[in-house]
Amino acid sequence: MQQEKNENTSTKEFLNFIGGEWVRSSSGETFRTLDPANGEVVSTCQNSIVEDARLAIDSADEALKKSWWATDTQQRSSVLAKLARFLASQKMEDAATILTRECGKPFKFNLVEYTNFPAVVENAAFRARFLTGTLTNSKSDSLEMSLREPVGVVSIIVPWNAPISLLGRSLAPALAAGCSVVIKPASATAGGTMDLIKIISSFDGLPKGIINCVTGPGGTVGSEVTKNKKVDMVSFTGDLSTGREILKAAADTVKKVSLELGGKSPNIVFADADMENAAKGAVSGACFYHAGQICFAGTRMLVDESAHEKFVRAFESTVSKMKVGHGLDPSSEIGPVVNKAQMNKVLDYIETGKKESKLVMGGYQLREPVYEKGNFIAPTLFDDVPMDSKIAQEEIFGPVVTVSSFKDVSDAVEKANDTHYGLSAAIWTNDMSKALLTAKKTKAGMVWINSQPRGSGFFNGFGIVGSAYKESGIGSMGSVEEYTLLKRIHLEFSGN
Ligand code: NDP
Repeated sequence: MQQEKNENTSTKEFLNFIGGEWVRSSSGETFRTLDPANGEVVSTCQNSIVEDARLAIDSADEALKKSWWATDTQQRSSVLAKLARFLASQKMEDAATILTRECGKPFKFNLVEYTNFPAVVENAAFRARFLTGTLTNSKSDSLEMSLREPVGVVSIIVPWNAPISLLGRSLAPALAAGCSVVIKPASATAGGTMDLIKIISSFDGLPKGIINCVTGPGGTVGSEVTKNKKVDMVSFTGDLSTGREILKAAADTVKKVSLELGGKSPNIVFADADMENAAKGAVSGACFYHAGQICFAGTRMLVDESAHEKFVRAFESTVSKMKVGHGLDPSSEIGPVVNKAQMNKVLDYIETGKKESKLVMGGYQLREPVYEKGNFIAPTLFDDVPMDSKIAQEEIFGPVVTVSSFKDVSDAVEKANDTHYGLSAAIWTNDMSKALLTAKKTKAGMVWINSQPRGSGFFNGFGIVGSAYKESGIGSMGSVEEYTLLKRIHLEFSGN
């Protein structure tokens, strides 16, 4: 028992992974990641600078030219399938423990990010075999064709909330398409991400330099991997304001950019739904387990006015039974907020909410001795929330949910679409015609009917992908095609 505790609280040091080697940052400096539940140091990682990012980019560029770009699709697919089998045989518990201590959500939700990873690679390997262009012989004297080719060097900038799933969603299809990558992990979860890279690096089937990973600040390392002219594409998941910066920075070299930038997702509950089920699904969909810090979290409840009271009571009753605590405590169901800055931001929203609407539950920081060193916020529910209020419009990224009523389908759709985001939506009803009509009219890249959001958002692992609407992003970063460019070739039989 004592030994287990020591393992769980030990600190690991991670180096950068460049050109197949583990190297220190040329700055000679490191930074430490912290446990949001108690402030303990979890990992020590390289505090890299622009030069380190450039080394990683050069390595990705060289490896691409030397080998990967020119591999046969079949060959690439087989290597990735072998990688998937290799990863499936690896022990992921230690990495998941590090991630739990860095990002806070309960262990089982972190472990599943790692254990799903091999399937994501396997599916990308499979889909690589179906990367096809088109060929037309509609004119008698010529042929027109299009080929899909890898984009080139791809930077993958990862956030801290679901860093392994969101890395896999971009890394696997990028490799399957024939690209090389430079990964920039979120600083808060750099240890948990580097531990996975360590596991991947012990697979010897991939050419050196195809995968590179550099830790360090977004403002320097992230910025360099965005604007460097040898980088052909940026795949970014994170905040809307950072996404806007990335778009601007990528403009100078006119790079391809894929963005996933959060949401304010509606959860629409019709009166004919099974209310207990809808309330449980809504709690799960609001992602309280990660203190609401998931981009597709359904935090904006829209409830049929005739079922409003029943839904609010059922929701409150489900949440009030959930235990808040450290992610490594198996009885914890709700983790802390990632850092103090994020906690203060969420508490500010809560204070605003108290002025704008009716507080039903929560609304404060947990300060009992067991919580005092961490960033814990009581799960919070606001009712009768006006659609134009700040808490109904802005992404809070905390354990805070708003409830508003609607009269009929068109009122529900109008309210669901009353946001500048368009990431995800959930609909609860037993009337499938109503469900599909609402799904069609809701402007969101993913719609869940009688289900809470699952998987890593747009990518379900089986080739079904969606794309972000409105300011929630650009592109479908889960698809292999996203990491390709189309080349048109025209052949004239006469030779003229
Ligand atoms: P960011 O968008 O700042 O971070 C996401 C990633 O981008 C991290 O790897 C970060 O590095 C990197 N980054 C930061 N600045 C730049 C830059 N100028 N150029 C390139 N890369 C950069 O999100 P935060 O972690 O700061 O969280 C802030 C808010 O973002 C949260 O409150 C939440 O609202 C939202 N968010 C949304 C997510 C989503 O899935 N949609 C995920 C995470 C956050 P580093 O970690 O070193 O700063």
